[in-house]
Amino acid sequence: MASIFTKIINGEIPCYKIAENEDFFAFLDINPNAKGHTLCIPKKEVDKITDLDEDTYSGLMSFARKVAKALEASVPCKRIGMTVIGLEVPHVHVHLIPLNEMKDATFQHKVSLKQSEFEAIAESVRAKM
Ligand code: AMP
Repeated sequence: MASIFTKIINGEIPCYKIAENEDFFAFLDINPNAKGHTLCIPKKEVDKITDLDEDTYSGLMSFARKVAKALEASVPCKRIGMTVIGLEVPHVHVHLIPLNEMKDATFQHKVSLKQSEFEAIAESVRAKM
């Protein structure tokens, strides 16, 4: 069965899209640690990042770097944290998290955003890509 992220790529499930190219896709995390929390994924559905082929792994990191720079230019933060967890969704994803404090990186502190706030962040990051 297709992962929830493959369904997002295919437009079967809505998302706040940030960027897309032939091989990769970025969108806002729906339950963010911090405003602007973004996920970067390969279109190829693979569970663990260590199982990606070298080209897809390098391509994903390069794509995530570009998105992180646009994110850092859009959301007030000290830096963008990058992390890979994958305990919830078995489709490789790199979390890009705008960090101001250590708790922003913990996945135990969440922020609640309105639809209009998600839309405004996504629009602002897209404009910096
Ligand atoms: P993990 O697999 O532990 O790295 O966590 C999966 C992440 O995907 C969590 O931060 C979720 O909030 C996020 N997530 C799950 N479903 C969606 C969705 N439909 N749209 C955006 N983010 C999602």
